[in-house]
Amino acid sequence: MPIQPLLDSETAARNMAEKQPRYTPQEALIEANRCLFCFDAPCIMACPTGIDIPSFIKKIANGNPTGSARTILTANVLGASCARVCPTEVLCEGACVVLDLEGDPVKIGRLQRYATDYVFDHHIDVLQAPAKKNGKKVAILGAGPAGLGCAAELAQLGYETTVFDKKKEGGGLNTYGIAYYKMPPEISLDEVKMIERLGVKFQYGVEIGKDLTINELEKNYDAIFLALGLGGANRLGIPGENLPEVVDALEFIEWIHTKPLHEVPVGRRVAVLGCGNTAIDAVSQSKRLGADVATIIYRRGEDDMPAYGFEYELAKNDGATFHFHTIPTEVLAENGHVKALRLVRTETRDGKVQIISGSEWTEEFDLVLKAVGQEKQSSAFDKLFPGLKLDRKGRVEHNPETMATSVPKLFVGGDCANGGREVVNAVAEGKKAARGINVLLTKQKVTGPIQPSRHGTKDGALGSGFNHPIRVPELLAAMSS
Ligand code: SF4
Repeated sequence: MPIQPLLDSETAARNMAEKQPRYTPQEALIEANRCLFCFDAPCIMACPTGIDIPSFIKKIANGNPTGSARTILTANVLGASCARVCPTEVLCEGACVVLDLEGDPVKIGRLQRYATDYVFDHHIDVLQAPAKKNGKKVAILGAGPAGLGCAAELAQLGYETTVFDKKKEGGGLNTYGIAYYKMPPEISLDEVKMIERLGVKFQYGVEIGKDLTINELEKNYDAIFLALGLGGANRLGIPGENLPEVVDALEFIEWIHTKPLHEVPVGRRVAVLGCGNTAIDAVSQSKRLGADVATIIYRRGEDDMPAYGFEYELAKNDGATFHFHTIPTEVLAENGHVKALRLVRTETRDGKVQIISGSEWTEEFDLVLKAVGQEKQSSAFDKLFPGLKLDRKGRVEHNPETMATSVPKLFVGGDCANGGREVVNAVAEGKKAARGINVLLTKQKVTGPIQPSRHGTKDGALGSGFNHPIRVPELLAAMSS
């Protein structure tokens, strides 16, 4: 049977609502006052974008969410999405000294969300690009987190920047590939609009090498930033893989982001192959969209899975089930549609996964989601940029300080450089590449956050660290609402 949507719109919306409500102003003040405002704060060291965390928390405690958001966004332009999707448990909050003292860290991610939501809700722009451009132009290939991080930084440094992407909207995986209950796509799209207001141009529906050649780009731009991410899902290489209900897990997540929730088709019995964070997003969302059974199938054991522990717990709470030490050997069909998976038990010997013969069984499923990693774009890059050096894992080789590649004036960042890491790593690499491009084109080195001029924002609220005066109106409003 073809798969169908299973829930009415009200139930689907309720099940997929953001998993954590935002802080009220009172809750944010109380949480901010748990921070010890450490000197040499370990939370800053743990943040790939180096956000001055004690400074932004202090501003919340002082009733200045606008200044707080400025501290965040000058360091990490995607601070609103990172507040939701960063694995804070293993980054900043994992390093927080209050975790050791009280067993519960300062909720840095939720405070970051509070401050960034505040400026988006109140339409306050805290970043600013110089009115006078420096006469240099940069093309950015890919509107995902790395591309956006690079574009925003270059815009603030005075560059004319154009971002090209083959999708209809910007944001990359933040818009199309994150579990809905972690972050609805509107947050990512708001960030894209903020970067547009910095003067960055976006051209969508453009496929590089087809609609736009590298020769044209090289002729019209002073430098190029490559941020095209990874390719499609790896193939399983088993019979039945081409059946219509065998779907890339990221494609399934994209349906959720591009259709009304009650129109997203989902199986009654869903198998998710793989056990990384994308697999967890897929299995949890399948349950939330009404699947009776949603099962992770993973060839190794519980201790080996790449997903974070807190993601695993979340999926179990959503009712997902897990078949560890199991692989599929065939997708079985009935009338041209997925009917079941043929499975076999495995064991790990000398680090290698071995099939246990005679342990096969068949289990009914009507949707199979592949979350077994994405292909590298090695052959596409070979064609686009002859001479571009890749490492043996298919990642683009680059200078880790400047993100420069082996091709002159071509820089790289994000998944195609790092093989697939967190959103925050991609933003940090985009920003680093922007500064590498700046050194190449102007011979000037920029360090630290780029601060807007004192008259640069619509409300005149400027964040200048601990010396910033308390915003009394904001504080009073926060206390009384
Ligand atoms: Fe505050 Fe924790 Fe960072 Fe210290 S480590 S500054 S307590 S958030």
